[in-house]
Amino acid sequence: MSMDKVEQRNIVVIGGGIIGCSTAYYLSRHPSYSTSTTNIIVLEASANGVAQGASGKAGGLIAKWAYPREIVDISFPEHVKLAEEHNGAERWGWRFVGCGSWEGEGEGEGEALGESRSGSLEKTLGFGATAAPENRADKGLPDDLTWVKEELTTSYSPMSGPDGTAQVHPYLFTTSMLDLAKEKGVQLVKGTAISLEQVDHHVTGVTYRDWSDSGCIKTLPATHVVLSAGAWSPSIIPSLPIAATRAHSVTIRPKAGVTISPYVLFTEILLPHSLSASPEIYARPDNEVYVCGPGDDSILPGNVDDVEIDLAACQSIINQVASISQELREGAVDKRQACFLPVVRTGGGPIIGEADKIAKGLYIATGHTCWGICNAPGTAKVIAELIMGRRKARSGNLTKLAPSRFL
Ligand SMILES: Cc1cc2nc3c(=O)[nH]c(=O)nc-3n(C[C@H](O)[C@H](O)[C@H](O)COP(=O)(O)OP(=O)(O)OC[C@H]3O[C@@H](n4cnc5c(N)ncnc54)[C@H](O)[C@@H]3O)c2cc1C
Repeated sequence: MSMDKVEQRNIVVIGGGIIGCSTAYYLSRHPSYSTSTTNIIVLEASANGVAQGASGKAGGLIAKWAYPREIVDISFPEHVKLAEEHNGAERWGWRFVGCGSWEGEGEGEGEALGESRSGSLEKTLGFGATAAPENRADKGLPDDLTWVKEELTTSYSPMSGPDGTAQVHPYLFTTSMLDLAKEKGVQLVKGTAISLEQVDHHVTGVTYRDWSDSGCIKTLPATHVVLSAGAWSPSIIPSLPIAATRAHSVTIRPKAGVTISPYVLFTEILLPHSLSASPEIYARPDNEVYVCGPGDDSILPGNVDDVEIDLAACQSIINQVASISQELREGAVDKRQACFLPVVRTGGGPIIGEADKIAKGLYIATGHTCWGICNAPGTAKVIAELIMGRRKARSGNLTKLAPSRFL
């Protein structure tokens, strides 16, 4: 009688953003997972825990029309399933949402409001501009979209049908993924990965600074390593073509009694002095409104906790939304924040799969640009299948995203 040898796995996931935490979740839910054979550690550099970067400070749009197709097609249904299984509506603000591109004029002083940079985060690539009609119906403005001024609106065009766009609260989603993974035995270690250890072209460990032990340098043994450190991923594998783009965002609480109907708007606001601005506005279920501005090329600091916030950039965003919405102008600004998103320098991406050119057992999951919240479950599911299913992913063909194409 032949007996399959049980493989002992020590998996270290570098980076506790949405990609790392979702990967830990899917690993811990894989049919081959058991605590007796598999040890999973999420290694996170922030002193404040997970989701301190882009994954805690993003908009949270989940769209069937996002890109790239092959990972969206896995991710969207997984988001639906996760929300059903874990009560995502309550736990992380899951809901379907209206979403469209809004064009119009802003009221106010142009210099204080505007910028002529074309640094949008490019979620709306492929959606064209529309003409400028006279009345509400011809402008396409939905009846319940009352928190932008009708008289300032030139046009509104929906980006999908009612079941094509949803949202989550990214911080709550990411921390929930980790909490659910911890319930199955996953551990969080607060430390900064410094280097990958390998013997005979196979990963054997991750050397890191342990922040719970005065920054002592230690090594975690590993049979498998997932590199999901977002914009910081090249600090471990310098040949990764990942650049970092900083973006600012704010959150606004409307006045008591004011309800903001569920829409996400990609705006194109014409301002005085031929300036324009394109803030993205996200109404959230708890009546918080999140708004983000364009990307800039500020230098990536060594640690997520040291990201600098340019208060003037936040104020521009606040002024811009105030120029088209009385409800938002009268609200109280809650958070002013900034974060870096990981962008594949050569175009395309994200980069997902085993990087066996560098070392067997090394898996890359990064470069999600402006769609990492949407595409986290698909990425995580595929990585979990590759590791737990011994190098075969059942979900989809991701050869276009394979590390060998980018390294
Ligand atoms: C303004 C803005 C709005 C966005 N809106 C959306 C949206 O609506 N929908 C959508 O799908 N996407 C959106 N995104 C994109 C999304 O936020 C990112 O694609 C996603 O968060 C990337 O996740 P990540 O886990 O790869 O990176 P991160 O969230 O940056 O996480 C990486 C983690 O790795 C840690 N780390 C770094 N180096 C090390 C190390 N050496 N050792 C250990 N840990 C390390 C960091 O501290 C960090 O916690 C938006 C992004 C921005 C900036």
